[in-house]
Amino acid sequence: MTILEDPLQIGIIAAGVLISLVQASFFEWAFHRFWLHRPWLPENIYTAHTLVHHQLCKYDDTFHVTEEEQEEALTFLWWNGPVLVGINLLPWAGICWALASRGVSLPFIPFLVSFGVMFTLYYLAYEGFHLLMHKPKYPWIENSGYFLFLKRHHVIHHTRMNTNLNVVLPLADWCLGSLELAPLVEATRKTPDAARRTARRHSNYGKKLRDNGVDTSASASTQASAPAAVREAAAVPRAREAESVR
Ligand SMILES: [Zn+2]
Ligand SMILES: [Zn+2]
Repeated sequence: MTILEDPLQIGIIAAGVLISLVQASFFEWAFHRFWLHRPWLPENIYTAHTLVHHQLCKYDDTFHVTEEEQEEALTFLWWNGPVLVGINLLPWAGICWALASRGVSLPFIPFLVSFGVMFTLYYLAYEGFHLLMHKPKYPWIENSGYFLFLKRHHVIHHTRMNTNLNVVLPLADWCLGSLELAPLVEATRKTPDAARRTARRHSNYGKKLRDNGVDTSASASTQASAPAAVREAAAVPRAREAESVR
């Protein structure tokens, strides 16, 4: 009998896919809220997302990537995907192992495989959708109804960071009260120059500029040398800065 002829196996695979989808939505929400937007270990994740990506792509006028500088921190590092899938798969592998060692006979492998494949697809969708939202490339994806809904959802997140923490499936946003559907008027504001200066204090691009003798605490557009008082004001303590960028 093949897998497709066995109702138990089909049920287990469907359960693996469904559980994975729900877990991925809640994990994405928690990861985004408590790692990407909170400065704790590993701090460079917060720095890349909140202090660089959110500052360089802030309101409508900067949401789309048009400059090389904005490309930084648009995607995660290559090893983040396998680690995140592993973190989510491991508890289920443990449960399956515990049940199997107590003599329970269920199709554990099909469950783990379907869970792992679905979670990997969700992660790839996160990375791919997020990239295409900021840097459109494939109109057949970007003009689809669901993508347009998700993009508006993410535009609102960039305007107000404590809302719309899901990127792929806003199930957790809906359940946990962070869903914001109405476009915000703040999005039409002009992104302040201070946002780019904040990003440059933390980005590799900013470091490169300083290595080349450019004063990144000055106005980002003119690169003029700022007076000492301006540079001092720019050097706010890190904790206060974390507060101010929320
Ligand atoms: Zn974004
Ligand atoms: Zn964010």
